[in-house]
Amino acid sequence: MNAVNNSNRIVIIGAVAAGTSAAAKARRNDESAEIVIYEMDEHISYSGCGLPYYIGGQVATLEALTPRDPIFFRDKYNVDVLIRHQVLSVDPATKTLVVENLATGETFTDRYDVLILSTGATSIVPPIPGVDLPHVFTLRNPVSARAIRTYIEEHQPQTAVVVGSGFIGLEMVENLVEAGLLVTVVEKLPQVCPFVDPDLSPYIEETLTKKTVTVLTGVAATKIWPGAVNLDDGSMVDGDLVILAVGVRPNTALARDMGVAIGPTGAIAVDRRMQTNLPDVYACGDCAESFSIIDGQPLYRPLGSTANKMGRIAGDVVTGGDIEFRGIAGTGIFKLFDRTVAASGLNEKQARDSGYDIVISHNIKPDKPEYFGGREMVIKAIADRKTEKLLGVQIVGYEGVDKRIDVFVTAMTAGLGVSDLFHLDLAYAPPFATTKDPVLYTGMILDNALHRGRELLTVDELMTISPDDIQVVDARVAKQYQEHHVDHAVSMPHSSLREQMAALDKDKPVVTYCNKGTTGNAAQNILINQGFRKVFNLSGGHKQYKACKKGQEKKQ
Ligand SMILES: Cc1cc2nc3c(=O)[nH]c(=O)nc-3n(C[C@H](O)[C@H](O)[C@H](O)COP(=O)(O)OP(=O)(O)OC[C@H]3O[C@@H](n4cnc5c(N)ncnc54)[C@H](O)[C@@H]3O)c2cc1C
Repeated sequence: MNAVNNSNRIVIIGAVAAGTSAAAKARRNDESAEIVIYEMDEHISYSGCGLPYYIGGQVATLEALTPRDPIFFRDKYNVDVLIRHQVLSVDPATKTLVVENLATGETFTDRYDVLILSTGATSIVPPIPGVDLPHVFTLRNPVSARAIRTYIEEHQPQTAVVVGSGFIGLEMVENLVEAGLLVTVVEKLPQVCPFVDPDLSPYIEETLTKKTVTVLTGVAATKIWPGAVNLDDGSMVDGDLVILAVGVRPNTALARDMGVAIGPTGAIAVDRRMQTNLPDVYACGDCAESFSIIDGQPLYRPLGSTANKMGRIAGDVVTGGDIEFRGIAGTGIFKLFDRTVAASGLNEKQARDSGYDIVISHNIKPDKPEYFGGREMVIKAIADRKTEKLLGVQIVGYEGVDKRIDVFVTAMTAGLGVSDLFHLDLAYAPPFATTKDPVLYTGMILDNALHRGRELLTVDELMTISPDDIQVVDARVAKQYQEHHVDHAVSMPHSSLREQMAALDKDKPVVTYCNKGTTGNAAQNILINQGFRKVFNLSGGHKQYKACKKGQEKKQ
């Protein structure tokens, strides 16, 4: 490690979340250091996360999202922020950098004792014809947000195509709908919102279609025309406005050119002190690689939450502090109309691909009592059978999703086992939660599966089993069975199961289900207590089955 606490000229490249956090922390620690930030853009320290809401009109002015300027940093922190200054190259051997003043075209050389790279990320533009047409945009910074909003105001587009259904794409869908446009979302993958597993995406699609958004999955945009977009299935969709939201890539060109090592995710490799492979060179924020607290693997999650944290750590370390980065769970959350979607940790595919022996629960419960307007919250939790710890959680719900995901993240960070969840003393009053919070239920379901033989079967797993090899018992009332049921299921309502179960083979696996899982579990208990050898409860019950089935039918 370098002795950095005597460094008196700290140069930072990039002045949004990570760079300004680093500068502020460095100044708090060290009054004497010279701190300079070069920023090629005109805005600094803004809320990128609020930009979609400015476009939709929920945030009235761009100034609300860009409250700070170089004068603020000069006055409050004694930090020089030079906007519209691009760092062209860095020579780590001489600790010098070449900077261009973009306003004048003038180029000059500066020097550093410590360099912090916080160059962020750039929106990916897919290589298709038409991306440079005037009605086609990416959204990354206030300049791009202003351009989109101005375009809407001046051209009054009626239709929009959003290419990509990650969280930025979906936030844009919501805000374009709020701005009065008819929106189509085009996603190359077979599901909308790859942020969650395929078995939760139907809930998101349902939200979108309710708002008259056209959702096209499994198709890619191939050419953009004025007013329309060609897709690779030969069709064409109307789009007076097109938003490209297919992801971001870390800005690493400068780092690569100066010999900074790049990690396996394509972002800058840093240690827990945000230090790169080069002496006195640090990196933080969207240009830098993280690692997962779940499996320790390198992880790239370009989020403001992480950028601010990394920036603070870099600023601390370069002024002699000892804060170390502890990794991330990869937590994200976004709002989609009246719903909230959140996820953290590994998804099902990642968990399986990493070789974990997993147990999965779909817990569908009201977010608060129904008499208080409670609405359904779907929690998918994935746990490791060996360690009994959570590997990942995904939630789609209406209210209180933020609270629940943060409780799960805290549990994962603290290394709690699934059995510990039930014992958490979570806050309860009817306006906020149910007496047993959905988090506690998730813990109970997983604990029952791991320790009490109350095994769960996911809908996806059921669909891979031949109907000859499993007996499917619908434990709901007969009327519900008649309305719709799981393929090959027999109707044995819970109330009459003891009388009817003689028709079942005790030695052949059975899966029970009800609407969401509770009565299915009660039926499972009866069969297990009656000596049935292998009884599963269908995870998430008929509700989850219907969601998955709908998703599958759409794909066909
Ligand atoms: C629409 C949108 C919504 C978002 N919503 C959320 C959210 O809800 N939650 C969340 O956690 N995150 C969200 N994010 C992500 C979040 O905004 C970013 O993670 C965060 O801005 C990263 O900060 P950063 O400082 O690392 O990088 P950036 O914000 O990318 O800033 C890097 C800066 O470095 C400058 N720069 C690069 N190279 C040079 C150079 N050579 N010379 C000078 N300057 C240079 C760039 O101009 C840029 O201004 C959202 C992002 C967007 C675009």
